[in-house]
Amino acid sequence: MKRYTLKAALSATPVAEDFVAIDVPYPDCPPGGIVVRTIYLSLDPYIGSRLRGRHMGETPPAPMADAIPGAIVGQVVESRAPGIAEGDYVHAMEGGWQEYAALPPGHFRKLDPAAAPLRAHIGVLGMPGLTAWAGITQLAKVTAGDVVLVDAAAGAVGGTAGQIARIKGAAKVVGIAGGPEKCRLVTDTYGFDACIDYKAEGWQAALKEALPEGASVFFENVSAEMAMTALSVSRTYVRGVLCGLADAYQSAGPAPHALNAGAVIGKRAQMLGLVVYDFYPRWDEYVTEASGWIRDGKLAFAEDHADGLDSTPALFGKLMRGANVGKPIITVSEE
Ligand code: NDP
Repeated sequence: MKRYTLKAALSATPVAEDFVAIDVPYPDCPPGGIVVRTIYLSLDPYIGSRLRGRHMGETPPAPMADAIPGAIVGQVVESRAPGIAEGDYVHAMEGGWQEYAALPPGHFRKLDPAAAPLRAHIGVLGMPGLTAWAGITQLAKVTAGDVVLVDAAAGAVGGTAGQIARIKGAAKVVGIAGGPEKCRLVTDTYGFDACIDYKAEGWQAALKEALPEGASVFFENVSAEMAMTALSVSRTYVRGVLCGLADAYQSAGPAPHALNAGAVIGKRAQMLGLVVYDFYPRWDEYVTEASGWIRDGKLAFAEDHADGLDSTPALFGKLMRGANVGKPIITVSEE
């Protein structure tokens, strides 16, 4: 079977040419585990850091051997797991860039294919969606009347965060994204009230104009610098969810993480660090709630989609450049 691996250890932001396909034996089914055929593969920004050993202390995959890590939705082809049968559908965070994955017990969740489209479990119902839900409902605790600012708003996390804020009663939701195409997605598909293109001239003034009342919540995905901009257009006692540092993941040296403590104090800001791992035990609860929102047309999602495992390196390279519009997803095999 086919697997994508690293050609060599990485020292810079990954590009498509860093990956190579190898042929490996079909995997054995682990005791208490399953083997799945990969159907959908998720590409996520943190993998760029993880491949360089810069993510949460996790070891990078061995070149010319290990699969590149990635979340998957797949169909069970072999099971030694209680309650899981051949033909069932599962989600797994560690499926990887390969046609089949062997998953030990505790490393997969069974999916109900009737609850929502299977592919939704890659983005809006997957780890990015859970992240958005955790930040908006569990950390910032958005309620009626909140004014919410979200950056990287065209992505799976940002786009879902803004929509959940609206569902929870936010009075206004404003996004920041790079370029007119992303901003159209944010307003027209995700239904934000406004989207500021930070690549356009005069964007900081436009952001101030969009938020005359000041944000009461911001959801930060990009950089410490962007967090400081968000703080500058926020009211006192703002709740700031610090979720990601997409801009710093690609930097060559130590990531520029510095926040201005004086500005935080001045705004009496509550800075809320978010790690989605803490919320994995509540994943099924989120999926049940959010599947209803999808069925009711309250929660939309957009994909940057490509067909076939061989298209993975190129789409991943696009994600690393920040050029993806929507959730990057690969269809590896047919449902
Ligand atoms: P996105 O699809 O939003 O992709 C990241 C976006 O970041 C890009 O599209 C780009 O959007 C923006 N960006 C800004 N500067 C750069 C840069 N230098 N290089 C690349 N991208 C850049 O990703 P997700 O929705 O999957 O994730 C959003 C954030 O949430 C990420 O930072 C991610 O790591 C984080 N995250 C954190 C989790 C946690 O537990 N804390 C869990 C899951 C995700 P634009 O052009 O609009 O600026």
